[in-house]
Amino acid sequence: MTARVLVVDDVLPNVKLLEARLTAEYFDVLTAMSGPEALAICAQGLCDIVLLDVMMPGMDGFEVCTRLKADPATAHIPVVMVTALDQPAARVRGLEAGADDFLTKPVDEVALLARVRSLARLKVVLDELRTRADTASTLGVPNALISTMTDTGTGGRVLVVDDRVGSAERIKGSLSKDFQVEVEADPQEALFRAAEGAYDLFVISLGLKDYDGLRLCSQLRSLERTRNLPVLMIADLEDRTRILRGLDMGVNDYLLRPVDRNELLARMRTQMRRKRYADALRDNVQASIEMAIVDSLTGLHNRRYLENHFAGLLEQSINRRRPLSMMILDIDHFKKVNDTYGHDAGDEVLRQVAQRLRRVVRQADLICRLGGEEFVVIMPDTAVDVASRIAERVRHSIEATMFAIEEGRRAIPVTVSVGLAESDRDRSPDALYKRADRALYRSKNEGRNRVSADAA
Ligand code: GH3
Ligand code: MG
Ligand code: MG
Repeated sequence: MTARVLVVDDVLPNVKLLEARLTAEYFDVLTAMSGPEALAICAQGLCDIVLLDVMMPGMDGFEVCTRLKADPATAHIPVVMVTALDQPAARVRGLEAGADDFLTKPVDEVALLARVRSLARLKVVLDELRTRADTASTLGVPNALISTMTDTGTGGRVLVVDDRVGSAERIKGSLSKDFQVEVEADPQEALFRAAEGAYDLFVISLGLKDYDGLRLCSQLRSLERTRNLPVLMIADLEDRTRILRGLDMGVNDYLLRPVDRNELLARMRTQMRRKRYADALRDNVQASIEMAIVDSLTGLHNRRYLENHFAGLLEQSINRRRPLSMMILDIDHFKKVNDTYGHDAGDEVLRQVAQRLRRVVRQADLICRLGGEEFVVIMPDTAVDVASRIAERVRHSIEATMFAIEEGRRAIPVTVSVGLAESDRDRSPDALYKRADRALYRSKNEGRNRVSADAA
């Protein structure tokens, strides 16, 4: 995992030291010796991670961080504060400025690399999601970043896994104002509870009796339900090696005992914000996938989906020497519905036609709204004589019951014309479509509200 790391420090030897260590691990390193210089590099999108000194003349690290996090163009770049002040107050101030992590000088080499690697990993995942979500926002799905920039990170359900009663209660006490906290002393039980999926964040003690807390962390990382959820370890100084292993397996953060209440809160809020951001991005991606293949008015598949799947279905049926039929359905005099009762009434009719179609055709059939008032049903394993009976059922289900419009205040009659064709030797989806369309044209010409099949 490599990444472009920006090292910011006003003291040249400090810059050189970090640069050497990171370069040795094959990271690309950029350097800046002041806040404004760092901001300019970030604004140009040149770096993936920032290692930021706190004490700098002019603009200090807190301010640089605050500015980076306030700008939508740079808010997603992970920032690690590097501070000589080994004081919880400074850490908390950094985290409050939106820093993703901090390191204390002299910088411990192993901790440095573990942090940079884990942030680089996180960034790859988020970048990928962000790219897809950007596509989504061009389609009109709201941008996830906007809501998360004002997220304070509080709220949400937290499971604390700790078997030292005093410690667990203290942690719970300091969190309960900002989060919904539950404590579980038994790690096995914790895993079951986690798998049920009701939590947003886990705090796990590495000092459990007769159980390795890291094992629980790794199980949480491998369970489908919990693999994307933030995990925070609580450890003692001598757990160093296990902390690093934890970070390597994807644990998001850690805290040393004695636990500083404010630092714990700040770290949890950072994790919670990040989680909600990733969730929002994922939802955007999901929404855009749906938008791409689902017709929003009726919930049926759209033309694009049909175009992507039709050829495959046809090919399969030919290879298996099975018939396949295609039905095209067009509402009769639909323009009149719009003209007489308005566009909303027209939409309502379209939705109800879709519902009736779903009820009448089989699960295995593919129903699409082709656009306008035209629908297509692809029926694998169906010869045209059977398809004709199904089409007749569809036609009848539309004609038999009037369509409620204007919130049920009025009911109007609707009919459809249907065209059918069965695949023959011809492997071309277009040819089949043209034959079904020809049959539909005949139904229209012969008076509408009827089913015609194209003789192959
Ligand atoms: P025919 O029996 O020959 O099929 O006549 P028709 O009026 O149904 O066909 P025509 O193609 O002339 O008109 C289709 C109408 O469908 C015109 C268009 O405004 C309307 N339409 C297309 N898409 C939508 C939609 O999403 N909602 C609504 N309400 N109307 C739509
Ligand atoms: Mg029509
Ligand atoms: Mg039409």
